[in-house]
Amino acid sequence: MSESDWVTSTEPLAMLSFLQPRGPLSDRKARLFAVAAVSRLEPLLADDRSRRALRVAEGVADGVADDAERAHAQELADAARAEAEARYEAAVNESTYAEGDEVIAAGWRLLIPVDAAAAAHAALHPSATTAATDVVQLMLSTEEWGRQAARWEAGVGRSPDDDAPGLGGHPRLAALLRDIAGNSPNSTTFTGAWRTEPVLALARGIYDDRAWERLPVLAAALEDAGCANEDILGHCRGPGPHVRGCFVLDAVLGKA
Ligand SMILES: [Zn+2]
Repeated sequence: MSESDWVTSTEPLAMLSFLQPRGPLSDRKARLFAVAAVSRLEPLLADDRSRRALRVAEGVADGVADDAERAHAQELADAARAEAEARYEAAVNESTYAEGDEVIAAGWRLLIPVDAAAAAHAALHPSATTAATDVVQLMLSTEEWGRQAARWEAGVGRSPDDDAPGLGGHPRLAALLRDIAGNSPNSTTFTGAWRTEPVLALARGIYDDRAWERLPVLAAALEDAGCANEDILGHCRGPGPHVRGCFVLDAVLGKA
């Protein structure tokens, strides 16, 4: 992967490996990426222990939750994951004697919340780098289970390309990773003179309130402060997505 591939890549695992030799994401950014990724699955997380895992993982990244809290939440999230898996196994056993494409499709669909619960658990792995990679792998499998289910629902069922290796594509995760690591991860420079009081106040507010819709206002304040960097201004005015760990906001706030 080259710098120009990075901007258009849809493969988050390849992107994570691309970052690695150049200095991986900081623990904070890797953890925030894991949280942002799993948050996309939140509607599938029925168990409060899994949803809590995301809040604690974000707290670990932002330095407001300690390792004991992380370990405790991880244990609870693992119990939720195990229960989801047991529910899946019970449902599959029940349907052993049933036949038909719909039953097979339902089986694939039942795997999705199991891996969603596993992803919430993975976000709390002691190593933030491992958390990021594990979360991506689990999210790629939830997508795959959805694709399989849709095939059986459409009556296409097993097809010759079933054994073809997955491409590992996930445009939304790739976009999240670019938000956190930057459009060109090695070349965006931020000048201290742009950190004026209005810029800092706006940035703090956006971070605390997750008020991404205010980023265009930040772009205007940055321009007033003398910033003409299109990578930074365009990012603030672009379509997003933006999450905690957004490279522009981090640069303003001096967060690594
Ligand atoms: Zn952003």
